[in-house]
Amino acid sequence: MTSTYFNENGPSSMNIEPPKRVMAIGAHPDDIEFGAGGTIAKWAQQGCEAVIVIMTDGSKGTWNPEADPLELAMRRQGEARRAAGTMAPGAAVEFLGWKDGELRHGERAVAQLCHLIRHYKPDVLIAHDPWKRYRLHPDHRAAGFIATDALVAARDPHFLPELGMHHRPSALLLFEADEANHLETIGELALRAKVEALLCHRSQHESSMEISDAGNLEEVARFRQTVRDAAERNGGADGAEFAEAFHLISEV
Ligand SMILES: [Zn+2]
Repeated sequence: MTSTYFNENGPSSMNIEPPKRVMAIGAHPDDIEFGAGGTIAKWAQQGCEAVIVIMTDGSKGTWNPEADPLELAMRRQGEARRAAGTMAPGAAVEFLGWKDGELRHGERAVAQLCHLIRHYKPDVLIAHDPWKRYRLHPDHRAAGFIATDALVAARDPHFLPELGMHHRPSALLLFEADEANHLETIGELALRAKVEALLCHRSQHESSMEISDAGNLEEVARFRQTVRDAAERNGGADGAEFAEAFHLISEV
């Protein structure tokens, strides 16, 4: 069975070697869980350390016009920490503090992230695919370009030498890929960790998960099934049970 996500040849690679340390970079507090939560959980179960970098404060992530942005940002930090711990117990979480909707691809953001890459020295980076076509949300686009530029800056000794010793990760995995070419298969346990991590983002239940109330078990069950179905469709492309799809760049 061929997934609609890949071309007729299906994915060209599957399952890179589990890294010792992964750094995932998302625009908003729940993006990483949606895009790569199962992969991070799988690697964490194999002893990988995770660093979760969230670029904006998520303060506009609500349909409620009366919501207080500062209160929402604080609430979302707590949710993000719980979600990170659910995916990868002991994960480090870094908040870069850009205002939601106002993340800009520029020197300041690239330097912030370059500094974190050199500090944590991850083997693998996970980020938004900045080349995804027809993407509307500016933060997702910006976060992707900031991550790719920061990777280049971090690996080359003559870029930003004041920000520490250069470091070159061995692979970059882009989620929400415009053209996926790689699968990470995930088992039942990692899939469950992904769903539980997503559900930690209670402030997003209504707007991104179609859950009107956490007590509405039917809606929660429907959301679990939606995530499961998506992972099953990706897995079907290569006969695995569940998987997440990426664009892998291994020449970094
Ligand atoms: Zn987002």
